[in-house]
Amino acid sequence: SKINVVIQDGSLEHEKVEQIAAALIDGIDTIDFRPDILSLVSLSVGIVFDQSLDQPLDDILAKCDSAMYRAKFDGKKRFTIYQSFDRTLEISRNIELEMEDALATGQFHVYLQPKVNMITNKLYGAEALSRWVHPVDGVRAPDLYIPLFQKNGFISKLDLYVFEEVCKLKASWEGKKYQHVPISVNMSRLHLYNKHFTEDLENIANKYGIPTNELELEITESTFIKDTHELIRVIDLLQSRGFLVSIDDFGSGFSALNLLKDMAVDTVKIDKEFLQVSSNTARGKTVIRSVIMMCRDLKINVVTEGIETKEQVDFIMRCGCPIAQGFYYAKPLPVPEFIEFADEHLTDIQTNFHFPFNGSLDTPDHTKTAAFTGPGTLHYAPGIYKDSLAVQFEGGAMEKNVVEVPPEVICNDSFSVSMWIYPEQAHSWSSALYVKCETGFYTICPVAWESHSDFRIRDSREVNGWYDLSGLQLQPDIWWHYCITYNAMNETATAFINGVVVSRLENVPTNHFVKRILVGGDVFQPSFIGRICEVRFYNDALDFDEIKELHQSYINDENFVANPAMVS
Ligand code: C2E
Ligand code: CA
Ligand code: CA
Repeated sequence: SKINVVIQDGSLEHEKVEQIAAALIDGIDTIDFRPDILSLVSLSVGIVFDQSLDQPLDDILAKCDSAMYRAKFDGKKRFTIYQSFDRTLEISRNIELEMEDALATGQFHVYLQPKVNMITNKLYGAEALSRWVHPVDGVRAPDLYIPLFQKNGFISKLDLYVFEEVCKLKASWEGKKYQHVPISVNMSRLHLYNKHFTEDLENIANKYGIPTNELELEITESTFIKDTHELIRVIDLLQSRGFLVSIDDFGSGFSALNLLKDMAVDTVKIDKEFLQVSSNTARGKTVIRSVIMMCRDLKINVVTEGIETKEQVDFIMRCGCPIAQGFYYAKPLPVPEFIEFADEHLTDIQTNFHFPFNGSLDTPDHTKTAAFTGPGTLHYAPGIYKDSLAVQFEGGAMEKNVVEVPPEVICNDSFSVSMWIYPEQAHSWSSALYVKCETGFYTICPVAWESHSDFRIRDSREVNGWYDLSGLQLQPDIWWHYCITYNAMNETATAFINGVVVSRLENVPTNHFVKRILVGGDVFQPSFIGRICEVRFYNDALDFDEIKELHQSYINDENFVANPAMVS
């Protein structure tokens, strides 16, 4: 930035000086700049009147400066008359004098705030936030310098610096278990005008050998209103290079709701103020819930920011958003503390849950427990392995003598379930599995239609929302390996028997918010009679090869004794 000074000897009226300043400021707008340059050009004027000549010139200039910084601080393109000493402006002025040097000498540090999966308590990612560690003043929070950097354009340099520091860090994590944790960096809207922006980022990522899909760029919502066209172009470019893109502070102001239809961003970050204000009222809660639901329908990830309390954790989880960033889990941490956090919160996120039913209803690590509903007593019978057990289901009226699994084991719209089923009495429409969602349900019926098994999906938002995937009937007194997958990305459901696809259906709408999971029955029909074991839940749609591999791993086990019927 350039500073010019005019000194006048007192023959001008105050009013006249103000008129000249106003004319200068207006004049800038009439110059025919390219629009991208124009957005970076502005004029701020500081005026100081009635100075006595026996004070040093430097003191007069300092007052002038101070007035000019006030003009800048108040939003540029204006003039301000010096009044009195103003401490905040003094700081702003110092910041501008020191910033270049501070960047060059490494005074800007990168702190990392963890993003956590609330269901598993595992690390999901991190956001890089800058801190100015000043040699005299100590740590300066971003609020003090970011707004100023946004006005004077220095933010562009800082953002690229932070981005590069993040790449360096990730490169130094090679071989560590948190090596591939995605890290997001804030990007100011000024970058939109830089034609080489995407290329610059890609070059930096390549320099350190960091895959672009482990780097995310956060762009705040307000940007979306002003620069829609530039933004769509830049987001497309970034995504074409593999970068992840998120909308930051969603819900903080003018909502970018409408733009979501044109911009395939990867993630929406719900603003912390929006959360704090809205989670106090019923209407506010409904809005948050709907935003989360809409994002899920659009296949956009949601991260909720500013989670500070257990109540907020519970509420947001119930809304179907599993990822949180907030003081409840961790503050922005200096790197060594972040590494400690990452080490504790294993990064290989647990997304599958295994209920062997081998004499107990727990997962092997006892972190999840299923419960028998009764009224009968829980019995076990021989399972699929030598000396292993399975739950013996004796049947009963609906919901009777079934096993209830904690609903959070399915926390993703895409999921898979694998189970071994041994029917003993064919009973039409009895369920081996029932997954109740807020918007519908999923069931597995070993016998449904005439000699067919059925994987049924109900979407209760539509009158005719019934989707059936039928395969051969599971004949009694034989162990069958039954798997289902639902892929929310392409809205496809698939049923497998003994590792082989038996049915596949496209355009099946996505159900949300799992409420209940029952094994061995449902709430409509008499309960299942027979045995079930080895129930596995995956929060991911397994592909053909994975299901086949899973099946092989069972039948190739040396203790496997069940004799699966052949499916062709
Ligand atoms: P942001 O991008 O919305 O970042 C999240 C802010 O929320 C951080 O403030 C973080 O400390 C704070 N926060 C996180 N969890 C909680 C919580 O549970 N409760 C409360 N009350 N606050 C929480 P921070 O680090 O002070 O940063 C403020 C803003 O400054 C950031 O807001 C971001 O917009 C900006 N900023 C920081 N570093 C950079 C940077 O390197 N580049 C750019 N362009 N902006 C940056
Ligand atoms: Ca952010
Ligand atoms: Ca934010």
